[in-house]
Amino acid sequence: MSKIKVFMPCNEAGHICDKAQYEEATLWDKIKLKMHVLYCKGCRKHTKINTKLTEIIKVSNVECLDKKCKEAMKKTLEQALNENKHQN
Ligand SMILES: [Zn+2]
Repeated sequence: MSKIKVFMPCNEAGHICDKAQYEEATLWDKIKLKMHVLYCKGCRKHTKINTKLTEIIKVSNVECLDKKCKEAMKKTLEQALNENKHQN
């Protein structure tokens, strides 16, 4: 049996997290990401914010379709991402 690589660098974790946001991540990707955030505080924060953003997008797609609302949402997302960058 080959050695399974569970521990991955933060940039890979971030990449999987982004993929998961668009539902492109495989199950194994998601498992590895979960393992990573267990011991990596920085990525845990990043994942949390990303999950939140995904929820906002999902809700807004259903309930908010006018242009004004979408622009406001975009601003909120950008703000959250910037805050995340500064914290890291
Ligand atoms: Zn990390």
